[in-house]
Amino acid sequence: MWIAVAVYVAFAAPDQWLIPDVAPATIASRLIIAALALFSFEILRMANAKTVWLDLTCASALVVGYIGWLCPAIGTKDATAMSYYMVFGAIFMMGANLFFSFPFRLSVVTSGIVLCAFFISIFRFFPSNQAYQIAFGMFYVSCFIFTSFVNWRLNVERRKVMLNAAEARYRHWEAAERGKELLELSHTDYLTGIDNRRALDRRLDECWNAWKNERRDFCVILLDVDFFKRFNDRYGHQEGDRCLTVIANTLRTLVEQSNGVIGRYGGEEFIVVMPFESPEIAMNLAERIRKKIEHLAIGHEERPDDTSVVTVSVGIAFTREQSGEKVERIVREADLALYNAKANGRNCIRAFDPLLPRPDDNAGKLVPLLAAAIDRNLVSLVYQPIFDVVNGKARAVEALMRLRLPDGTAVSPKVFIPVAERTGAILELGRWAIKTACRDILMTDRMATVSVNVSPVQLRSPGFAASVGDILKECGISGSRLALEVTEGLDLDIQAEVLKCIADLRTIGVEMWLDDFGSGFAGLSWLRAIEFHTVKVDRTFLHDCSNQRGLTMLQDMVSLIRNRGNTILVEGVETAAQMSLLKDLRIDRVQGFHLGMPVSAELLSAA
Ligand code: GH3
Ligand code: MG
Ligand code: MG
Repeated sequence: MWIAVAVYVAFAAPDQWLIPDVAPATIASRLIIAALALFSFEILRMANAKTVWLDLTCASALVVGYIGWLCPAIGTKDATAMSYYMVFGAIFMMGANLFFSFPFRLSVVTSGIVLCAFFISIFRFFPSNQAYQIAFGMFYVSCFIFTSFVNWRLNVERRKVMLNAAEARYRHWEAAERGKELLELSHTDYLTGIDNRRALDRRLDECWNAWKNERRDFCVILLDVDFFKRFNDRYGHQEGDRCLTVIANTLRTLVEQSNGVIGRYGGEEFIVVMPFESPEIAMNLAERIRKKIEHLAIGHEERPDDTSVVTVSVGIAFTREQSGEKVERIVREADLALYNAKANGRNCIRAFDPLLPRPDDNAGKLVPLLAAAIDRNLVSLVYQPIFDVVNGKARAVEALMRLRLPDGTAVSPKVFIPVAERTGAILELGRWAIKTACRDILMTDRMATVSVNVSPVQLRSPGFAASVGDILKECGISGSRLALEVTEGLDLDIQAEVLKCIADLRTIGVEMWLDDFGSGFAGLSWLRAIEFHTVKVDRTFLHDCSNQRGLTMLQDMVSLIRNRGNTILVEGVETAAQMSLLKDLRIDRVQGFHLGMPVSAELLSAA
C-alpha cells in the first residue's frame, strides 16, 4: 500500500508537465486520497483487521485514486497531452490484478470499475475521435482480459501453495501427536496403566536434582506384594494380574492425594516418590496404604502364615545428609528397608536405618531348599540337656534345628534361620519343630520339659498361639511341659501383637524363656515388658569371667535377674572350672558341651 501510494503521489510531476492548467487540482486530489488511504489502512492494521478488510481498503483506494485523478484531469484544455496521458490508466488495472494479491473476484471488480471509468471518460472527452476510441478501448480491454487472466493463474498457484503448506503443517502436527502418544506409551505400564519404571526413574532424577539444588526433601516408598508367587500358583496368572491392577488403582488414589507419584517398579513391586514435610506424615501414608490393601480383603489361602488375604510389605527411605551422590542410593535404602519388612514377618512397614541388617547374597540358594526342607527330610532336631545345678539332674532339653544340604553339608543356623525368617519359611519350620519336639521328647517321656526356639516372626504371625495349642492337644500333652525361647530383638519388636501372642501362650500354660539375654540392645526392655519364666544368660558373659571385670559383670547380671524372680540359666558351660563358678553363684540351671552335647532323640536316653 505504501509503495503504491508513493508511486501515485510521484505522478504529481507528470501532472505538472502534461496538464499544468489542472495540475493544482489533480495534485491536491492525489495528496488527499493518499493521506486518507494510508490513514484507513494503518488504522485497520493496528486493529488487527482481517485480510479481507485490508484488501477492500486497498481496492477502494485504487478505484478512488483513479477516479479522483481522472475527474479533475479531464477538465484540462490540453487535449492532445491528455489523450496520451490516459494510457497510464492501464497501470491501475495492472495494480488491481498484478500488484496487490487480491482474491480473483475483487481484482476483476476493481479493474472492471477502472475499465468502465475509462470508457465513460473517453466517450465524453473525445467524442469525435473514433480511431482513438477504438485503439485505446481495445488496449484497455485487452489489458483488462490479460491481467485478469494472469491474476486468475496466480491465484490458482497461490491456492496450491497454500494447500501444500497447510498439508505439510497438518502432517507435522500429526507426527508430533503420534510422538506424544508413543512417549506416553513408553512411560506407561501396560498392565496397570500407571507409570512404569522408566517414567519413575525420570521423576526420581527430577526429585533428586530438586533436593541437591534446593534441598527439597523427598522419600521413596517400595511396596512388594507378599507371597505373590503362591497367589499366582493357586489362582492363576490372570487373577494375579487382576490383583496387581486393583492394588495399583488403590495406590494411585491414595498417593495422588498426597502429591506423590506412583509407578510399577517390577513384577509385583510398586514405588512411590513423594515430597515429604515430616517423616511421620510419610510413615502415616505408608501405613494407610498397607492397611487399605489388607482391607481390600483379596483372598490368599495359599500363604504359609496365618493370614489369608493379600498384603504388602513396605520399605521407606528419606533423603538425608548422607544420601550420597547418586539417586540410586536412596532406592537401595528403601529396598533394604523392604527386605527388613519381609524379614519381620511381612505386612509391615520398615524405614531405612543404617543399622538394619543387610541381605546375604549367598543366602539366595537356600530359599528353595528351605521351602522344601521338611518334605525332603533336610531338616532335623537335636536336643541338648539342661541340668539343675543343685541336684545335677537333667531337667529339660533344648531342641536345636539342624539343616543339611542335599549333599550332606551342614548349614549353620546363623545362616539359614535369618533366611527362613525373611522368606517366611520359618513359620512352617517353627510349627514342625514344636510338633516334632513334643513327639520325640514329651510323648515318649524322654524328658519332663522341652524348650523350642521361636522367632519374633512367628510371635507376630496371627494365630501362632492357637496353632501351638492345637499341637499340644493333638499330642495330648500339658502346656507346662513346653517352653518357648525368644531372643531379645530390637526395641521396636515388642509390639502389641507380640505381647498378645505371649499372653495367649501363657494362658495355655506354655513357659516363656528369654534367650541370649544381654546379647542385644533391648534385653532390659524385654525383661520389663514380659513375664519370663526363665532367663538364659548369653554364653559370652560366662566366657568373659576369666577376668575380674567380666566376673563382676556376670554377678551383676545374675543379681538383676534374681531380683526379678526369674529362673536363671547359663549356657555355654565348657569347663569344670566354669561349672564350679556357677555353683558358687547359685545359678539355677546350666547347659553346655561340658555337661552334654546336643544329640538326636534316640541317643538322648543313652547320654
Ligand atoms: P515375597 O513375600 O517374599 O515377596 O514372596 P513373593 O512370592 O511375592 O516373591 P517372589 O519374588 O518370589 O515372586 C514374585 C512373583 O510375582 C513371581 C511372579 O510369578 C509374580 N509376578 C511378577 N510379575 C507379575 C505379573 O505381571 N503378573 C502376575 N500375575 N504375576 C507376576
Ligand atoms: Mg518379590
Ligand atoms: Mg512379593
